[in-house]
Amino acid sequence: MIKIMIVEDEVGLVTLLKYNLEKQGYETNVVMDGKDVMREALLEKPDLILLDWMLPNVQGIDLCREIRKTYELRNTPLIMLTARGDEADKVRGLSYGADDYMTKPFSVPELMARIVALLRRSQPVSTQENLSFADITMDFSKRRVTRGDRHVHLGPTEFRLLQFLMEKPGHVLSRESLLKSVWGGAIHVELRTVDVHIRRLRRALNEGGEADIIRTVRSAGYALEVSSDEPAEEYED
Ligand code: CA
Repeated sequence: MIKIMIVEDEVGLVTLLKYNLEKQGYETNVVMDGKDVMREALLEKPDLILLDWMLPNVQGIDLCREIRKTYELRNTPLIMLTARGDEADKVRGLSYGADDYMTKPFSVPELMARIVALLRRSQPVSTQENLSFADITMDFSKRRVTRGDRHVHLGPTEFRLLQFLMEKPGHVLSRESLLKSVWGGAIHVELRTVDVHIRRLRRALNEGGEADIIRTVRSAGYALEVSSDEPAEEYED
């Protein structure tokens, strides 16, 4: 059974989420206080975490960062629930390691669709054991990425993005096609979300000071290429 941890302090919303998730056949476990989250998550090992931004004692955003730094939890799919509509806050949420976010008030069917999509992209789809490009290797059985001798820590979304790029090295993949492949076609996600996750993927791949192998092709998309000496371009929109 797929276990979803609901981290939320609004009783009404907890009831609504618990009811709808259990109706879909998920097992749930509820945590209402920020200070209990890490202990409960390590104990329960949920398959996905719904994490409220504003919580008593510890902020959701700090928990998000903490979860991504914790070895046993760092691959756990995570959706941030936020009451703040501010774009910057959303992107900030994503750059701290959330895989998706919902702004309150949100529609329950939309959240359910996003949960399904996120759980799906957390499962590697490759039938191959390994994919290699330049000094990067993806091992699907161990769900492990290495660059040279270095272990690269990737969240589920970055893992899938890298997989699609590695399956077509040298090809320019549009943001639309990456969105469709990685997030699934059925849900509405802004194109700039792709850029946020590409930025995270790049940061993780280049953490050891290695050359950038993801080329940004302005107004076209992204491609995996052995680096020239040109500095990496980024979308500024
Ligand atoms: Ca709250």
